[in-house]
Amino acid sequence: MYDSNNNTTTAPPHVVLVPLMAQGHTIPMLDMARLLAQRGVHVTFITTPVNASRIKPIIARVHESKLPINFIEIPFPCAEAGLPIGCENFDLVPSIDLFVNFFQAIQLFAHPLEQSLKDLVPRPTCMINDMSNPWAANVARSLNIRTLIFHGPSCVYIYCSYVFQQHKIYETVTDEFEEISVPGLADNDDDDVVGQSFKVCKLHAPGWLNAPGFEKFRDEILHAEETTDGVVMNTFHDVEPMFVEAYKKVIGKDVWTVGPLCLYDKDDLSARIERGNKAAVDSEKLFGWLDSMEERSVLYVSFGSLTRMNVGQILEIGSGLEASGVPLLWVIKDVEKSPEVEEWLKGFEQRMSLRSFVIKGWAPQAAILSHKSVGGFVSHCGWNSTLEAISNGVPMITWPQFADQFLNGRLVVELLRIGIAIGVKKPAFYYGKDEIPVKKDDVERAVRRSLMGDGEEAEERRIRAIEIKKKAIKAMEEGGSSYKNITRLVEYIKHEPGKDVQGTQV
Ligand code: UDP
Repeated sequence: MYDSNNNTTTAPPHVVLVPLMAQGHTIPMLDMARLLAQRGVHVTFITTPVNASRIKPIIARVHESKLPINFIEIPFPCAEAGLPIGCENFDLVPSIDLFVNFFQAIQLFAHPLEQSLKDLVPRPTCMINDMSNPWAANVARSLNIRTLIFHGPSCVYIYCSYVFQQHKIYETVTDEFEEISVPGLADNDDDDVVGQSFKVCKLHAPGWLNAPGFEKFRDEILHAEETTDGVVMNTFHDVEPMFVEAYKKVIGKDVWTVGPLCLYDKDDLSARIERGNKAAVDSEKLFGWLDSMEERSVLYVSFGSLTRMNVGQILEIGSGLEASGVPLLWVIKDVEKSPEVEEWLKGFEQRMSLRSFVIKGWAPQAAILSHKSVGGFVSHCGWNSTLEAISNGVPMITWPQFADQFLNGRLVVELLRIGIAIGVKKPAFYYGKDEIPVKKDDVERAVRRSLMGDGEEAEERRIRAIEIKKKAIKAMEEGGSSYKNITRLVEYIKHEPGKDVQGTQV
């Protein structure tokens, strides 16, 4: 390649990021895109029209700051896959019956993705695919591009899923609640590792899409993990060292922990407010309210982008929160709104007066959790929410529901000891219409006596939360473990097989 003065140049390293169209996967990948671009890598970020419109302010910021990121919008094949038009993100799928259709729709991306990438300049040198997009590896192969996979969930979950599969625990263990020692952890002799033994049951470590109808897809995902060059994870070494080390051992390839990616925006409040979607609340009003509250006094209550609570459970949560007596900031999703909930909230908001703030719809969560008035988080333990709490030193009340959430919850409660469990045992994507697993008293007890209380245990939890926050920040700073891994990742992206890092043929 030659520049205008006829001097030889090397093409800049160019990575294509292919996220899963789900908030918990797209948000961290967009952070990664910005991080890599900041480190001199040219990035192409794959999105769709609806998803692009959700992140419009971030796209505008990227263009303004001249970060080398190119956003490619691929039309989402809703009609072909039997999905309602506009259903371009996992959080928009109207019912569980259509989950399979959603994953089928994503696979139809292969051809348009290949078409969009084949003539790109500079030529992509590497592709990072969300683990749930195994089909994208074939596109990369057809274009002669190397591939890595990106794991959005925690390493504890990825590792347990991997070894449970390897040891055939999913096939052989019949009691789904039987506590099984996770194999392979005892080999770890790192002195800094907290605890060497970790037990989980099959139900809480469900593996990748281990559900009827997903068999072929699950096998493709596992195959993609086997055949990839390396793995990029949104975690950091110090938060789950024994799982990171054990996973590296079993997978036998490069594992780069590059998180917490949410810290990318740590010094920019307005960027943090714009993450993922347009907030359903006036930020001035919200942050004005938070500013008016005492330090670490507010309990933030939110269950991520996917879970849906039924009316009975919402009222039970509200009653428990009200009885706890602490100030609270509570998020109720659009899909959870109903005339009954609206009616009940009227009375609730009147009784709580200035002690509560209810957001109906998308909340600027990363910004909320970083506010000094927030002192606790009732969470479903999605890995991004967990990392956001950890990065801000906020202790949690854990209420896991599905996928990696039970294991994330155990990591928080048992190993990091910065949370307490609300006590749910049975996983569920959505609770049945009349199912109310957590009662008012459970909520009140967890909040009042344990999390926001002024007892010794609560104080120790707060101290530990601040300690792990410092470690998270350090990991992302120059010289930190994740910072160094990003450097290694950039070197990998730059280095084409058969060429040295400068692009010279070897
Ligand atoms: N989120 C947000 N506002 C909301 C709901 C979710 O900003 O009202 C963000 C949250 O901060 C996190 C992501 O969406 O970054 C959700 O990911 P997580 O892994 O926690 O849970 P999931 O939604 O995938 O279950």
